[in-house]
Amino acid sequence: MNVYDSARMEDVMNLAGYMSTANANDADLVVLNTCHIREKAAEKLYSELGRLREAKSEKTVIAVAGCVAQAEQEEIARRAPYVDVIVGPQSYHRLPKLVTTAESSKLMGLPKRVIDTNFPVESKFDSLPDARGKGPVAFLTIQEGCDKFCSFCVVPYTRGAEFSRPIDSIVSEARQLIEGGVVEITLLGQNVNAYHGDENGLAGLIRKLAKLDGLDRIRYTTSHPKDMSKELIAAHGDVPELMPYLHLPIQSGSNKILSIMNRQHVVDDYIKVIEELRSVRPDIALSSDFIVGHPGETEKDFDCTLALVESVRFAQAYSFKFSQRPGTPASDMGGQVLENVKAQRLKTLQNLLNRQQLEFNDQFPGQLVPVLFERRGKLSGQIAGRTPYMQAVYVNCKGEEAVDNYFGKTLPVHVTQAFGNSLTGSLEPPVLKT
Ligand code: SAH
Ligand code: SF4
Repeated sequence: MNVYDSARMEDVMNLAGYMSTANANDADLVVLNTCHIREKAAEKLYSELGRLREAKSEKTVIAVAGCVAQAEQEEIARRAPYVDVIVGPQSYHRLPKLVTTAESSKLMGLPKRVIDTNFPVESKFDSLPDARGKGPVAFLTIQEGCDKFCSFCVVPYTRGAEFSRPIDSIVSEARQLIEGGVVEITLLGQNVNAYHGDENGLAGLIRKLAKLDGLDRIRYTTSHPKDMSKELIAAHGDVPELMPYLHLPIQSGSNKILSIMNRQHVVDDYIKVIEELRSVRPDIALSSDFIVGHPGETEKDFDCTLALVESVRFAQAYSFKFSQRPGTPASDMGGQVLENVKAQRLKTLQNLLNRQQLEFNDQFPGQLVPVLFERRGKLSGQIAGRTPYMQAVYVNCKGEEAVDNYFGKTLPVHVTQAFGNSLTGSLEPPVLKT
């Protein structure tokens, strides 16, 4: 979602006469968009600010946006008093005005910090300029905020209450993106499947978007198991544009921990959703998020997580050590788990998940899969794309010209090799040895 928000801030600033630059040292304005989900993400801001301070001139305006701005404005002012603008995730459509105010007070020799961390009544989406696609794939935020209040999570505090964008504004943004060359859209929301801007929820929205000419691939993230409705599961079975990949976080395989986390479902509910999804779309690739070492987690609870992973078999997954976030119920619960125990559990879980990811990828060499080419690879003449199952695929083309030719196209690729995080392949059929 921060990638989407950063692109929208760029759109807003473009309209105000600013141009992007690849080098922060050349910039009149630097906006750092931030994440508060775990301590490690939030701390990145302060190290980045330290580096910027060295490089910036007196004139450079420094803005901090995103969820750290929302949650830690006093801390930012204390640790980095040279920050000029602090803007929360719900008010970044006002960025040009905030920057102008900061610039003029600098010019008058009276630098003052400009802060906007409100949750304005007007929706930022109504004030943002038209979205522009940059390449064949794009994100599109359809829902923001969350009312679920999981014990460990800052989202309900930093992003606010659940909000669904009206369907017309989403369809019109999708059309703009498609006109700009986008063929794959990932619908975004902290709780995307709680979307209620259509009478048939997210499934209804997906079915409408699937009818748009030129849109070949639809994905959505991040979902909550409780909101996996029958309609949404059915859409996975009969909407060809909806890709056979789902990121569905469960966090823990222990019912006791799920209850302490306030996740509002048990392990069996999750397994049932997976079974239903697999019955309508047998090849669906599954991904999840896990937290190890949530307060109260014993070795036995952790074993339940390993058992769940063994039984589901994930195509990929993200896993984290529990991080104490100020203001959340879990941050000062009893039963905090020691750091070294968390680290050990994370290692064990990641070993298992990595093994499953490689096993998933290992099924592909020898197969022909459609790959949407979306970026250049690191090597010259290399182009990279994704399979319907979200795997990254690298293909070596015959020259840079071919790279340009394939960019934005979906082509059948003969997969040659599988790795943990990617596949390699060829656009030519393999030469069979006789
Ligand atoms: N809405 C999604 C999650 C969004 S946050 C859901 O309900 O599943 C993205 C991920 O960050 C979470 O799934 C969780 O695994 C991780 N996360 C959130 N807060 C965390 C914390 N305090 N410590 C460690 N990981 C955390
Ligand atoms: Fe955070 Fe997701 Fe729980 Fe909402 S549902 S509080 S976003 S983890």
